[in-house]
Amino acid sequence: MTDPRTTDPRTEELAERLHATRERLDAARAAAGRTEEVDLVVVTKFHPLDDVIRLARLGVRDVGENRVQEAAAKAAEFETTDAGLAATLRWNMIGTIQSNKAASIARWADRVHSVHSVKVANGLDRGRARRAEETASTRELAPLPVLLQLSLDGDTSRGGVARENLHALADHVAELEHLTLAGLMVVPPLEGDPAVHFADAAEVAAGLRAAHPGATEFSAGMSGDIEDAIAAGSTCVRVGTAILGPRPVI
Ligand SMILES: *Cc1c(COP(=O)(O)O)cnc(C)c1O
Repeated sequence: MTDPRTTDPRTEELAERLHATRERLDAARAAAGRTEEVDLVVVTKFHPLDDVIRLARLGVRDVGENRVQEAAAKAAEFETTDAGLAATLRWNMIGTIQSNKAASIARWADRVHSVHSVKVANGLDRGRARRAEETASTRELAPLPVLLQLSLDGDTSRGGVARENLHALADHVAELEHLTLAGLMVVPPLEGDPAVHFADAAEVAAGLRAAHPGATEFSAGMSGDIEDAIAAGSTCVRVGTAILGPRPVI
């Protein structure tokens, strides 16, 4: 049998960059004196389904998307192309969510990092309930894991919930039957030192975990700031450009 990794240049390139990113993660964990695994979500937004399939074959378990129609189309096409391989992959929604789109996101998303409002949470809960009904004959569908996106600078136009509203939102999500509160997500503000922002966010994440012991995840770190995020305690990095290269202009 021919090894697909040596026959397709794009697969080869992705394999190399994936390997380099995992080495970066390992080095950052070692430097921070951390031994536990850190989740890697490979951000495939704007890139074609073919790249998602290549990544799944290379053993990637989590991909991240931020545009609703694009993600829904890719997930559905993957399912019809290779249901077995598709079942090994988790689709992560990482982008800002409009509340009227939330229910539809629950059709394809396996984890959502970017809940910022009660309306979005309610929409996801409704959508997950519907999906659970539809799959009930084949399997039980667990509640959808969701993270709350924190707006560190209070500029909620860039996504996220203001910190003074975080705990009320968490309490609400914890009451929803079809969602499970998994943790906190952050994108550092453009201004200032990311390391300082991540340390700030880590304190908020610890406060959330104290109130909701199941909220253990801290989703932080992208291509440019993996090391700072891991040093601050990130449990999940979201890496696009460092693995897939620049996003195609659409
Ligand atoms: C696009 C995106 C990423 C990935 O960014 P890169 O710099 O390409 O690694 C991570 N998180 C979120 C929320 C994003 O929108």
